[in-house]
Amino acid sequence: MATLRSEIREFLDQQPVKMYVDGEWMEALNQGTFEVRDPGDGCVIANVASGDARDIDRAVEAARWAFRRGTWASLPANDRAVYLHRLADLVDRDRAILAQLESLDVGKPLAQSTGGDIPNVSATLRYYADLSVHTRRYEPIAVSGHEARTVRLPFGVCGFIFPWNFPLLLVGWGIAPALAAGNCVVIKPAEDTPLTTLYFCKLVQEAGIPKGVVNVVTGLGETAGAALAEHPGLAHASFTGSPEVGRKVAESCGRNLVPVKLELGGKGAAVLFDDIDVDAAARSLAGAITLNTGQVCCTATRWVAHKKVVDRLVDVACGALSKVSIGHGLDEGTLMGPVVSEKQRQRVLGYLERGEREGASVLLRGGPHQVEGHPGGYYVKPSLLTGSPENVCAREEIFGPVAYIIPFEDEAEAIDLVNSSNYGLANSVWSSDLSRANRVAERLVAGNSWINAHNVFPHGVPYAGCNLSGMGGGVLGPETLLHYLRAQSIVRPL
Ligand code: NAD
Repeated sequence: MATLRSEIREFLDQQPVKMYVDGEWMEALNQGTFEVRDPGDGCVIANVASGDARDIDRAVEAARWAFRRGTWASLPANDRAVYLHRLADLVDRDRAILAQLESLDVGKPLAQSTGGDIPNVSATLRYYADLSVHTRRYEPIAVSGHEARTVRLPFGVCGFIFPWNFPLLLVGWGIAPALAAGNCVVIKPAEDTPLTTLYFCKLVQEAGIPKGVVNVVTGLGETAGAALAEHPGLAHASFTGSPEVGRKVAESCGRNLVPVKLELGGKGAAVLFDDIDVDAAARSLAGAITLNTGQVCCTATRWVAHKKVVDRLVDVACGALSKVSIGHGLDEGTLMGPVVSEKQRQRVLGYLERGEREGASVLLRGGPHQVEGHPGGYYVKPSLLTGSPENVCAREEIFGPVAYIIPFEDEAEAIDLVNSSNYGLANSVWSSDLSRANRVAERLVAGNSWINAHNVFPHGVPYAGCNLSGMGGGVLGPETLLHYLRAQSIVRPL
């Protein structure tokens, strides 16, 4: 395994790793801590401050003061953009450190963190910094007998709760538009993977972003997370995670009449017609279901395939999936790491068992896996199942390297199969007939339809969910910046 960089060893050796509030590094007021483990071998790698409602109070108060002082909110957009670019430069400078820490914490292959997650964070900061400079804050309104305009202003304190699968990348997607708009933020990262979010705060500090503008409270969901969601000091909230917890967060925000954005789970489908290069599509989908060990909200978990291509699809995909090199995220040559925790491993194995009990046929037997040299790691092999679309593995989000194949005969049936899901995050259509691909893409009920590819996230294209997959307009689009600006009209009778 690659040696840990000295910066990371020093960071993790703090006892405990502290949270970042009001520009200071702090222990939890109750002195509590929780353990963070390396999913690749199950060992404890850090003790992290475990905040609760009092720490959330302290952070929201700090953010409120920072907002009122105006050291961030009142800056011209281009001055804020300079800070955000500086922060992006620091993320790029420390890319190797952040990538190693992310891979250690989440278990993902180092190449993915280095080439994917971390550069995406700086790209997101730059995208919203630049967009905010070119976004009009003043719109004149033509009404007779009045001078009138709309002004767009930041909300105040925005609370963010994040999941564990793409920790720092999602922090970027979440907070970059909020900060560019002039808000102050309080972040509650997932307890399984809080480390890069904390390390990022060192860069926030170094970039000179005024104190209180970015605050991170680490802690458990039921304590720190719940306290943030129900805090009356929030002006805006955003939650990324499961629909079950999303509902609780929305209820809390609803009680305080705080607007909330929800980015939730999915059960993405890939619809494969019979005019495609089956081998290429099979390899691509094998890549999609093993990316981040299948712990990707929108990935292709249901392969809705024309019956003429099913056999070849299965052959090639089984071949590709059996060859995926499974290992510790920091080991050279690893293409798929462990899942994030023992709890997640049990969840995946539990679904495989239930799926088979409900009659699914196993095309590729996955399940528990041992990696030499890492006996305590949370490894699972990829699985490919087929059977009834009513099977639990075809309906529910498993969040592991498991795909379910469902054959179809005609276009209408394929669309029905995809739309039978309660989720509505993302699907893909694979066909060389682009007019058919576009037609079907529009008929699939979800926030996103991709054509001849899966998992596509260019900055500027909104990424959102409907139904059980989310509400509030999503992330990554130009509108996302506007979600963090409230409109106020100003009018004077003439
Ligand atoms: P989760 O819902 O269990 O936890 C998400 C966050 O909520 C964590 O920080 C957790 O500590 C916190 N939390 C837990 N209980 C809470 C409570 N009662 N009140 C407030 N906060 C609480 O989700 P997870 O297991 O971390 O992540 C996996 C889920 O996230 C999957 O469903 C996945 O599809 C979804 N996800 C969605 C997107 C998207 O953009 N749509 C992106 C990534 C992950």
